Amino acid sequence: MDIKAIQPKVTTLIQKAFSNQKLTHAYLFSGEPGAGKKDVAFWMAKRFFCLNPIHNEPCMKCTECKRIDSTNHPDLHFIEPDGQSIKIEQIRSLQREFHFKGVESDKKCYIIEHVDRMTVQAANSLLKFLEEPNGTSLAILLTENKNRMLDTIISRVQVYKFQQVSSEVLYKNLLNEGLDPDAAYLLSNITKSVTRGKELLEEAWFLNAKNLFFNTLEEFANNPFGAVVKIQTEWPEVFSDKKKQQVSMQLFAIWFQEVLYSQLGRRVSLNEHAQLIEHFRNHFLINDLVSILEEVVTAKEKLRSNTNYILVLEQLLQKASLAA
Ligand SMILES: [Zn+2]
Repeated sequence: MDIKAIQPKVTTLIQKAFSNQKLTHAYLFSGEPGAGKKDVAFWMAKRFFCLNPIHNEPCMKCTECKRIDSTNHPDLHFIEPDGQSIKIEQIRSLQREFHFKGVESDKKCYIIEHVDRMTVQAANSLLKFLEEPNGTSLAILLTENKNRMLDTIISRVQVYKFQQVSSEVLYKNLLNEGLDPDAAYLLSNITKSVTRGKELLEEAWFLNAKNLFFNTLEEFANNPFGAVVKIQTEWPEVFSDKKKQQVSMQLFAIWFQEVLYSQLGRRVSLNEHAQLIEHFRNHFLINDLVSILEEVVTAKEKLRSNTNYILVLEQLLQKASLAA
């Protein structure tokens, strides 16, 4: 994964901190799931321990970098919630580790994921720990909910805000992971991270849903009424909960966006379905496509406010068939 492509601003700031020797002892990485916080944290830890950094990036080849990759570096500690929360005992055992000198040097680093999920006792204990940095230590705290953290902790750390990864960058990363272009395109518009995208691709449910979606579109091309029946009868079983129903709307959005791109003479991405896109293009005008896409946005909102799925689908279909 290309860390620098995912978070160019933050990684540049980190490189500068190393090159100006202005590294502070504690950082907070704040941002949405999938923004690459954990990957950047481990990348930063590698730079911290790396024996041969190149342009202030870790070399990825030395023994230190390699040991971090295989998660057995003695002076790098990773903490995550034990069940629902991070408990005081986890912070205490970290503190005990830090009382000893680093196993091989005086450098030590710890990364705490979901740092907002600490118990009050654990948070107070961490606060004391942050107040008394010792030796050459580096703390990297990760959170998706900065507003749930103690202000006293936030005021003692350097906060780096992570931007949401764009779907273009996610698409490239999914391609780099070996996904075929159509799957990478769909997933980059449905999920927010490479990890989640790959997970979804492994889920039988998703493959089933994807097939049903494209079969319905094929049906629509031959027999629009048949497609409507298919949606009313088969979709509710497959798109059986709120999350899955939102995915069906995302698929609609991706599809009509592609048809719109095709109308506008832009490059389409779903090459496996190029013929079908062509067919839809001949049946929908640009204005129709725009209003369908607006209707999909409305449909997503309706689902969020608990409107019945079939009702939402019927309203959407009405819009689409009026347009056609
Ligand atoms: Zn290295």
